[in-house]
Amino acid sequence: MGFQDFYGNSETVGRAREMLAAERFPHAVVLAGPRGAGKYTLAQMLAKAINCLDPPAGLPDFCGRCANCLRIAQADDLDARFAEAVEAREALREADRKDTRLFVQTHPDVLIVPPDPPQRLVKVGQVRRVIETIYFRPGEGRERVYIFPSSAFMKEAANALLKVLEEPPEYATLFILTENPGELLPTIRSRCVTFVLAPLPASELEAHLATQRPQWSAKQRALVARLAEGAVGRALAFDLAAYTRAREDALAILRSAASGDDHTPLFRVTETYRGGGDGKEKTEQLLRTLYSLLEDLLFLRSGASQLVRNTDAAAELAALASRVDFEWIAAAAQGLNEVERGMRRNLLQSLSLDSFAVALEPAK
Ligand SMILES: [Zn+2]
Repeated sequence: MGFQDFYGNSETVGRAREMLAAERFPHAVVLAGPRGAGKYTLAQMLAKAINCLDPPAGLPDFCGRCANCLRIAQADDLDARFAEAVEAREALREADRKDTRLFVQTHPDVLIVPPDPPQRLVKVGQVRRVIETIYFRPGEGRERVYIFPSSAFMKEAANALLKVLEEPPEYATLFILTENPGELLPTIRSRCVTFVLAPLPASELEAHLATQRPQWSAKQRALVARLAEGAVGRALAFDLAAYTRAREDALAILRSAASGDDHTPLFRVTETYRGGGDGKEKTEQLLRTLYSLLEDLLFLRSGASQLVRNTDAAAELAALASRVDFEWIAAAAQGLNEVERGMRRNLLQSLSLDSFAVALEPAK
């Protein structure tokens, strides 16, 4: 257990640890990288390293077993703790609920400040809690650590945070996690040191999946590595079964659209897409898959087959690509766009999927 468990971006992680070793770790850090790159995992690891009671020898690390490591680790599963916090607030009387801001806290010196639903923005009341506590010396750890898992701040909250960043106390460290640093006020960014977690090359992800997901075939691992767009977390959380199901349907729809004659197989597929909560998610997955197949068709038509992501369906894609042209692909992408807009207006999903496929001119 320790930083060795963090996969990829070893240069960034090494730099952070060296700063810790030199006692020059910044008081405010922006951790930037795509969804699933490991921003939160790294923030948690650094929070443990900062507060570990029994750190292993060598570059700063954490033991994973001491009281501080264990308590901080209770928040490793942020989604679960967040859901509990939301539920606890829901259980309050209405009058109390309004003034209750959301936090995740499993260690007295480590406070996680998630974006507050339903708007999913960090609110000024949450930043006020940071201001109220940050000037107290840490009780059980060496430093107070604050983690903002998202950089979506309400304007007033961002301005309040700026005040803290102007003069953070010696014994506090703030982490702001973001997919897009440009979303943060320039004045906030300029007061932070930015660490970037870059997407990993597909080959590196494939190698990692070979050890973490040995039950997947090499073809499946290659597919997931490409679809995860370089993000370890997305690759590990990838629902291969759901994707495979959606892709079978997506291919059936595209085949039917391209042939243009008998639409019976198409209707059989679209019939299984209905409205409602589950149905919406299933349809969204289908639409994402349709887009990724259309993009692959574009790559194939433009002679860039090395960029194709659905490598395990290469034969089927090549057959489709030989029958459609750029115009057809563009029309299909536009049609999909209309299906998405229709979904937002709550049109019947199966009907709009049908008309999407039927409206496309058959390929030559
Ligand atoms: Zn420890």
